[in-house]
Amino acid sequence: MQRCKEGSEKRLLDAAQVRPVPHFFRYGDSFAIYKEDIIMIVVLKHGAEPDKREQLIGWLKNQGLGVHVSEGAYQTVLGLIGDTARVDMDLIESLSIVDSVKRVTEPFKCCNRKFHPDDMIVQVGDVKVGGGNFCMIAGPCSVESEEQIVAVAKAVKASGANMLRGGAFKPRTSPYDFQGLKAEGIELLKIARKETGLPIVTEIMGTNYLPLFEDVDLIQVGARNMQNFDLLRELGKLHKPVLLKRGLASTLKELLMSAEYIMAGGNEQVILCERGIRTYDDYTRNTLDLAAVPMLKELTHLPVIVDPSHATGIARLVRPMALAAAACGSDGLIIEVHNDPMHALCDGAQSLRPEQYDELAKTVRRVREAVAQ
Ligand code: PEP
Ligand code: MN
Repeated sequence: MQRCKEGSEKRLLDAAQVRPVPHFFRYGDSFAIYKEDIIMIVVLKHGAEPDKREQLIGWLKNQGLGVHVSEGAYQTVLGLIGDTARVDMDLIESLSIVDSVKRVTEPFKCCNRKFHPDDMIVQVGDVKVGGGNFCMIAGPCSVESEEQIVAVAKAVKASGANMLRGGAFKPRTSPYDFQGLKAEGIELLKIARKETGLPIVTEIMGTNYLPLFEDVDLIQVGARNMQNFDLLRELGKLHKPVLLKRGLASTLKELLMSAEYIMAGGNEQVILCERGIRTYDDYTRNTLDLAAVPMLKELTHLPVIVDPSHATGIARLVRPMALAAAACGSDGLIIEVHNDPMHALCDGAQSLRPEQYDELAKTVRRVREAVAQ
């Protein structure tokens, strides 16, 4: 997405002559959204004449506004940033090339679909996620050995998975439980990637580990770190996709605000993940909030995937929930697969065996075909 690249905050402030010292909302160097800005969206009519469009953009800029142009397949949207309170909405709406004008009052702006009506496609290695591209991420909860991760990687690839997951740093409830192989785990993931060609997905737990993640294809922020704002800010400075999981007791707005932290820094490559939330029921590990998928897809243009493994905690429930996720519009699935779940060092009870994953993957494809018809 082309963002407001007009220049530094200072240049925008000078041009706009808006409030002298607003609170910065964004942190990147080409940034220009302020905490108190109300963003206005101008939707242009399909086939709007380019000269009229440029005239309008020039006029808006002369009003002291930042103009962010989002060119979609069907619609062009102008995002107006700055002191839009003084803009005459009726006047703009009356122009022949303008379809509609609305204000974005939600606190999430960069990830707001109003700002970017078309689905965002996040590129992870050579895999596309979103905009009709369904991703199948699979692998063990944690990387345990070279043999284990390479065997699982080969098996899930043969079943149609297009990314490999595996925890190297594990956020465990008990400090006495297996904490992951850490740096060595990342090296083993790279070996599995070399063997299979699958991009690798693994969780980061703190900013101090960032150098170890340079060669990771998709950096996962786990549920427990969804509101680790320092971490999110640092990830916002990277040019690397981030998989942001919903917090254990987080609202959708909080999830979107966490995505906003990353995007506000300039990194727009964010994939959201519904992985179940805490409710009063304890038959399942968490409660899978599937309504979150269509709701999020209304609110944001970011891809949304589902993790039925952590959502249920029970291997036999993973298949039905994965099928339901595929049916309700999810852009992908992240599923735990282990070659020997009984002896897994972490989350064996929710892990599928490779042959179970194979059957699930086939059925997911059939569900997607059925829903597409
Ligand atoms: C995981 O994916 O291994 C994990 C710990 O997930 P979550 O952060 O959703 O609990
Ligand atoms: Mn796990």
